[in-house]
Amino acid sequence: MRTRIKTTPVRVGSIVIGGDEPIRIQSMTTTKTEDVEASVEQILSLVRKKAELVRVTVQGMRQVEAVKQIRKRLKELKVNIPLIADIHFFPKAAIAVAPFVDKVRVNPGNFAIGSFLELIEVCKKSNTAIRIGVNHGSLSEEILYEYGDTPKGMCESAFRFLRIAKEANFDQVIVSLKSSNPLVMMRAYRLFVAMMPSEGVSPPLHLGVTEAGEGVDGRIRAAFGIGPLLLDGIGDTIRVSLTEDPQEEIAPCRILKDLPPYPGSLTYDGSSQEEAIVQLSSWAGTFLLEAPTLDLKISTPFGSEFDQRLKEGILQAARLKMFKADFISCPSCGRTQFDLQTVTKRIKESTEHLIGVKIAVMGCIVNGPGEMADADFGYVGSKPGFVDLYIKHQKVVCHVHESLALEALIELLKKEGVWKEPVSV
Ligand code: SF4
Repeated sequence: MRTRIKTTPVRVGSIVIGGDEPIRIQSMTTTKTEDVEASVEQILSLVRKKAELVRVTVQGMRQVEAVKQIRKRLKELKVNIPLIADIHFFPKAAIAVAPFVDKVRVNPGNFAIGSFLELIEVCKKSNTAIRIGVNHGSLSEEILYEYGDTPKGMCESAFRFLRIAKEANFDQVIVSLKSSNPLVMMRAYRLFVAMMPSEGVSPPLHLGVTEAGEGVDGRIRAAFGIGPLLLDGIGDTIRVSLTEDPQEEIAPCRILKDLPPYPGSLTYDGSSQEEAIVQLSSWAGTFLLEAPTLDLKISTPFGSEFDQRLKEGILQAARLKMFKADFISCPSCGRTQFDLQTVTKRIKESTEHLIGVKIAVMGCIVNGPGEMADADFGYVGSKPGFVDLYIKHQKVVCHVHESLALEALIELLKKEGVWKEPVSV
């Protein structure tokens, strides 16, 4: 592993991210933030798994109040895990919650740049860090107009906010440049690192692949993007976003954190399937971007079927060959409008055979449509128990009851001529 790229240490509550500190592992709750007891319970389960930071979603002032309660409960329980507030669209909530959390995440694609300075001033007073969390799928109109949805546009989106922070003498800022496409996120982080010296900033980098999905494919996609960057010395904190219980995100993070350097062949001889998936996907990501090939030789002790499945998953993550439908699904959070894990599984089972079709399953309309990137079809929670269906970014079916939504999606796939009956074996 190369020496880590030196970044500015940023204090986030009881820990420091960046500088000479170890890579930090984090996750996010999926409970409604205003359900204080459930949120505290989930945070405790993450602490038991040894997550080092935890993020909660803050949509508005109701959640700001809930965060205060969560903090109080954690203090009573003597739990000191740094708490992060995740903000979209609502600067007022960011400014109100900043004194009660250790870090505020804002998305420059939907956070008014005019309010950023105000947020910085509050964060300075309360020793709260900020993450500028760029998302490939939700860049601002201005950035899209100037740069398109490119890695350059993602970097520029972050630098616009960073320049304001620099001007205000505030360096407690972390940056992320996530995408559901691991190739795009890898390019964005590498470009950002190359641009850091000329911008005169060196913020710690939070690595992640958004909407990676679940199961084997979710782990492959996340590792394929995050692993090669870590092996190149890029990255100070990581999150593996899975459409699963957040506790399940911690084990792949730990494997990534301890990733051995690429030994020159895709061979694994340990005893953990999850470790094999994460290590081999990471190693493949170190060379497939520059030297694309379909000729991957994977060898594990888990049998040829496992090896073949892993190979197909890696080639699909690298977008070199499609073996089944591609799924983008958000990890869910307090904004989720339906049981995302069950629904994603059901949609996958019914549509996986549609080779090459990209389907997004997103928990809410606040961020879902923006973040479903280049999906061909979208299944997005519109209000509790109801779903909107999309073709690309165009809403085509509104408010279908969730009991009928899978059928409606299949009808839409038929109408668009991409449906095929599954072949029963
Ligand atoms: S898209 Fe999913 S993870 Fe993102 S805000 Fe909506 S429900 Fe939460």
